[in-house]
Amino acid sequence: MPAPGSNVYLNPFESLRHHLSEDLAALSKTLDTPTRNRDLISKDLSDCAKDLDTLVERAKSAQENDRADVPSCLKKRCELLQEVMIALSDALRETDRMVSRAVLMMGHLGSQIGRLTLHAHDSRVDIFARHCDDFSLAEMKWVRPSTTCGEAAERAFDVLGAKWALLDLAVDGCDCLQCETRRRRAGGTASVIDYTIIDEEEVDFFRENLVGKCRKQRRDKVNERTKDD
Ligand SMILES: [Zn+2]
Repeated sequence: MPAPGSNVYLNPFESLRHHLSEDLAALSKTLDTPTRNRDLISKDLSDCAKDLDTLVERAKSAQENDRADVPSCLKKRCELLQEVMIALSDALRETDRMVSRAVLMMGHLGSQIGRLTLHAHDSRVDIFARHCDDFSLAEMKWVRPSTTCGEAAERAFDVLGAKWALLDLAVDGCDCLQCETRRRRAGGTASVIDYTIIDEEEVDFFRENLVGKCRKQRRDKVNERTKDD
């Protein structure tokens, strides 16, 4: 059952956020199959990145209508997500050397999108965002492929190297619950699972424990909502 005060019906912001978060999980799953079409997945990923503009507009509209306590970090985080998603899309199009880690990165990005919320200071209202926030705290480190992959791919790797870790940091000047959690973590007063993907065995572990759980979480949430209806 949803927590007291939770919204059973999705507003336009939440509806698009769910859609994008699910899309990222689905793209991750598709990339993880032998029949994958990297070009198509790369294009879909860049389309999802563009849709984040609409998500920002919907948050702005909710705030203007005084229906939301929008975190001041939301726009900046969406811009950062866009940069990372475009770079990952470029890297995927240019090389097949990072498919396994891209599967996990897209699962992680699904959680990062899922934690975007209209409720800066009350985690009880938006359960989906709270769960995705929990998952996104399992910090995933970017590791550059050890082989050279051509100029365009290397440029994309540079962007991922510069921006990926920022997804998990607090945004300056924002006092939302999620940013405060990250400040406590940086100060050593909150626990965090920290991992770096190095080999295929680890990839399998995280596929099961992170991507799999994220998908299950979303399935449970959908089932819960269906039951309430
Ligand atoms: Zn914030």
